[in-house]
Amino acid sequence: MVSQELRARLQQTVDSIAVIDTHEHIPPESAVCDGKYDLFRFLEHYVSSDLVSAGMSRETLETIRNPQSSLTLEERWRLMEPFWKYCRTTGYGRAILEYMHDLFGVEDISGDTYAELSRRIQAAHTPGWYQKVLREFARIELALVITWPGQPVTVDRSLFRAVPILDHFAIMGTRAELAALEKETNRSIQTLDQLLAAQEGRLDDFCKQGIVAVKIFLAYRRPLHFERVDKSTAARVFDRIWLSQTQDLTFADLKPLQDFMTRRLVGLAAERGLPIQIHTGLQEGNGNYIEYARPTLLTNLFMEFQDARFVLFHAGYPYVSETAVLAKTFPNVFADLCWMHAVSPFVAARTLEEWLETIPCNKILGFGGDSNYVEGAYGHCKVARRVTTDVLARKVEEGYFSEEEAVFFAKRLLRENAKELFRV
Ligand SMILES: [Zn+2]
Repeated sequence: MVSQELRARLQQTVDSIAVIDTHEHIPPESAVCDGKYDLFRFLEHYVSSDLVSAGMSRETLETIRNPQSSLTLEERWRLMEPFWKYCRTTGYGRAILEYMHDLFGVEDISGDTYAELSRRIQAAHTPGWYQKVLREFARIELALVITWPGQPVTVDRSLFRAVPILDHFAIMGTRAELAALEKETNRSIQTLDQLLAAQEGRLDDFCKQGIVAVKIFLAYRRPLHFERVDKSTAARVFDRIWLSQTQDLTFADLKPLQDFMTRRLVGLAAERGLPIQIHTGLQEGNGNYIEYARPTLLTNLFMEFQDARFVLFHAGYPYVSETAVLAKTFPNVFADLCWMHAVSPFVAARTLEEWLETIPCNKILGFGGDSNYVEGAYGHCKVARRVTTDVLARKVEEGYFSEEEAVFFAKRLLRENAKELFRV
């Protein structure tokens, strides 16, 4: 049993840390102040995936979360309720219950509260809400946010830094996708060399606009093993795409070019001192190949790109021990717990305990909310502070380290490591 005084002291210290949040998907504030915000807008991710897993049809999910659909709030609730009762106990369910309670003062998400909750959400979504939630309530000093292919990397720099996904230069497989890249970069792309120039030009533009890392998202679509490919082989694949009018090329056909371009992105990021955040482990949504996302598939990159700094996201869950071994043994590999506090506080705690005994503590990134909403960032950060405190208190109590060491560890984990790595 951990003494209450020790736990309270550590909680106070952990709560006082101005967190650097390594990963969010929060849109510009204007997008959520559209006067149409309600509970069901929070089904863009996470709980929505559990609802589908519990049996809700994808069509139902699409209708209830689409603000343009003609359903009333009551009709949406009636479609959600039969499955919500099975999902409210998962990590996602607990997290949303907690942040709706804290931020909007409702005791539950139920037939009695969905309408009033929606009214309060809409009333709160006015300019200044982000500052209030992130700064005042969550005590997050800065959050790294993902920008999607084709999106600008301009963000409110008082709260955010941008991390673009650039792997669409690697994954395109049709003339139409090539045309989209031409439009995005305002260049003509008819050869592999032009594709390389477009990728590099885009990255350099983004660097001038203050990005702090790049993101590789490919584990949603293919295995994370990127082989060394010679340029002429990659160029032959490029030419086949350029000549094809339809999507008739298989993954096996496209893989050499994808591997070549992904490795090229790693090299470019390393030259510019940008860390590379990589999605590993659990994919959001329903029905994917978890083995695509296995962290050890990346080992050859860690060996060959020694100047690059790789950040393995989501603890690589369920491969958290693989992530531990990689971050333990490769100086250029960092382990990031982002999203895990929402997936499962238990898994986050168990993983953190394993990592703190295996990985030097400057290599662990302790929090990223991975939410599309500031409310989620707040809620997931609260869970992270609680889990971190619990684990540290236990380790002090059992004599693994001193209270002073626990405080040092907490500051590295929730702030200092990210500050150093991303130079923010
Ligand atoms: Zn994410």
